[in-house]
Amino acid sequence: MATVKNILKHVSAETARRRRKCYRKTTHLILKGDPCLVVRDGPQSQTTYCTVCASEILAKADKSLADLHTHFTALHDASSQA
Ligand SMILES: [Zn+2]
Repeated sequence: MATVKNILKHVSAETARRRRKCYRKTTHLILKGDPCLVVRDGPQSQTTYCTVCASEILAKADKSLADLHTHFTALHDASSQA
């Protein structure tokens, strides 16, 4: 059985192993043990975000996913009515 592709491989939640800075605002500190959002933009590039920025980023991603869902749901509904 084919597995479902994970398109969010480059995004993960991690627990900070040391003090880190939020990429979006360097005044946002991520303390050791805090949850943080890690985004890998490339093999040598990864950015880390604090919990505040992470929820904003995830909310935006949620909206994008909802938009995508709407696109395919609408398509599905239209074809089932035909
Ligand atoms: Zn932040």
